[in-house]
Amino acid sequence: VLLGNTKLIKLGSGRVIGRIWDFQDITKTQNLLEKLKLSASIVENLLEGIMVTDKKGVICNVNPAFTLITGYTEEEVIGKKPSILKSGHHTEEFYKKMWENLLSEGSWQGEIWNRRKDGEVYPQWLTINSIKNEAGEIVRFAAVLYDITEIRSKQKELEFQANHDALTGLPNRSLFIDRLKTAIERAKRKKIELAVLFMDLDGFKKVNDSMGHAAGDILLKEVAKRLLRCIRSEDTVARLGGDEFTVLLTEIDDELNPVDVARRIIHTLIEPFDICEKQVYIGVSIGISIYPNDAKDAEGMMKNADIAMYWVKTSGKNNYRLFTKDLNEKADRRLELESYLRNAVKENRLLAFFQPKINLKTGYISGMEALIRLKSSSGNIISPGEFISLAEDTGIITELDSWMLKKATSFAKGVFSKYSSSLSLSININLSVAINLSAKDIESTGIVKRIKNFVKESGLLPEQIELEVTETSILKDVKKAIKVLFALRKEGFNIALDDFGTGYSSFSYLSQLPINILKIDRSFILSANKNTISIMKALITMAHELKIKVVAEGVETKKQVDFLKAINCDEVQGYFFSKPLREDEFITLFIKNIKKFNL
Ligand code: C2E
Ligand code: CA
Ligand code: CA
Repeated sequence: VLLGNTKLIKLGSGRVIGRIWDFQDITKTQNLLEKLKLSASIVENLLEGIMVTDKKGVICNVNPAFTLITGYTEEEVIGKKPSILKSGHHTEEFYKKMWENLLSEGSWQGEIWNRRKDGEVYPQWLTINSIKNEAGEIVRFAAVLYDITEIRSKQKELEFQANHDALTGLPNRSLFIDRLKTAIERAKRKKIELAVLFMDLDGFKKVNDSMGHAAGDILLKEVAKRLLRCIRSEDTVARLGGDEFTVLLTEIDDELNPVDVARRIIHTLIEPFDICEKQVYIGVSIGISIYPNDAKDAEGMMKNADIAMYWVKTSGKNNYRLFTKDLNEKADRRLELESYLRNAVKENRLLAFFQPKINLKTGYISGMEALIRLKSSSGNIISPGEFISLAEDTGIITELDSWMLKKATSFAKGVFSKYSSSLSLSININLSVAINLSAKDIESTGIVKRIKNFVKESGLLPEQIELEVTETSILKDVKKAIKVLFALRKEGFNIALDDFGTGYSSFSYLSQLPINILKIDRSFILSANKNTISIMKALITMAHELKIKVVAEGVETKKQVDFLKAINCDEVQGYFFSKPLREDEFITLFIKNIKKFNL
């Protein structure tokens, strides 16, 4: 049984040093020995090393496998004590226990480190049995030696693989958590602080998508190398997967501050990477949690660092942020809001408000802007400032905007018909409804067709629609945006550049974009002084030159109205005339009774 089922273990040199057995086999070997049915030929052929000593422990017999394993020949060891095999790795206490066990139990087994004749220290599995005569007295000890060097190194390799990321060689999540737990225990005992940095690369996906996965892999390896240079040897850098990395700072104080480490990391990753003969730029968003202040356990530390990282991502990236309780509450609220928002259309939780725009030449309204609102579960009205960016991040915005397109066009159709019929004026008023689009709408496929269909269904003409886009939404993907906007212009829709004056706003821009309306941002109007007034004057002159209509937003005072009129602004919108109104309010105030502002 024994010989048939085993596998030889050979060193690189071809030297047989043992074989793999299972413990079942060991027992069988032991039994064989114990029963003294150990025939000479089996011992000779056995691939385990066998060493038999007399009751005083003097070696009296070894087999050929013993020589293969230890390097000592039969002649060299007979008459000596097994202590010649000692590696010095074990304490006296260890050997004392072994003997005690051997004498009381009749056997001992365990892992032991011995030294070969050539000096190499190696692990072996050793089983020793005492052999008794018929009177029950110990006459011999038989030791079975099994070299487990290769098994141990294989085990080490497997352990390494299980705990490390194959690509970068960094510890993986499970090892990181282990180390974090150990570090927390230590920090608790020593009453010190430690920190976790949670990192997510900015722009990694772009590299992966545009240059291929192989390039992405090279980049990740380089990132790992740079990260290791930012920390001390006792700290840990791990890769959790994808482009997520973590750092454990086992002890922080005035000298080693996690913020300094975060800054160092940002600084080192901002340097270009040479990947496949190209210079590649990325960034990193880092969230930091500190024990014991932010969390008391590993899970909490990870979660909070992740939350802090998330806020860096949503507020411009390539930066770091310390976790605060406040962020946590914000994250919770955001999650709650997200699920509330997801069902907003289905559950009828959206409202459209309308804010009139006034023509500065006539004093009559020229149309209105549709502004979305969300009804809270308690019936309060939530303003878009609180949910638009979340809706954009999660992609829910396209659903909201489609809802608004439908709502606003059908409302406008009804209102415009009523207004025109009750308006017995000789002047011709072109009414239009303004609807906001987000970057996500522009990116989405079939957007031109969808908008066209909504408008067609409502019965309005494309000329009666103003689609408002911001510079930032255009800049997300300029090429695509320009293509979509041109297509919309071609269909007859008006395109307004919203929030002008807050972004990169350049004059030269205006002539290149397919826009025919410019909305000057409220902040520009608010901060009007001698300088900005002359800029605005020039801007309006140029816009008119390009056949672009100019609308001023956020007009709150008569003074503002006067100067906007003086510089030839076309339309105004703001609290001075009206806040955004509910549908019924809008109809009552502006449609039933024709209102003319004396400007
Ligand atoms: P916006 O497009 O710039 O809209 C103008 C904002 O200024 C509105 O805020 C409006 O209520 C406010 N406003 C108007 N006149 C005045 C004034 O005289 N003083 C002050 N202080 N504010 C004034 P609101 O309704 O809170 O909307 C905020 C932003 O949310 C909008 O800015 C727009 O970017 C976005 N938004 C609103 N509705 C939609 C929508 O249906 N779709 C999309 N994608 N975005 C929308
Ligand atoms: Ca707008
Ligand atoms: Ca605006």
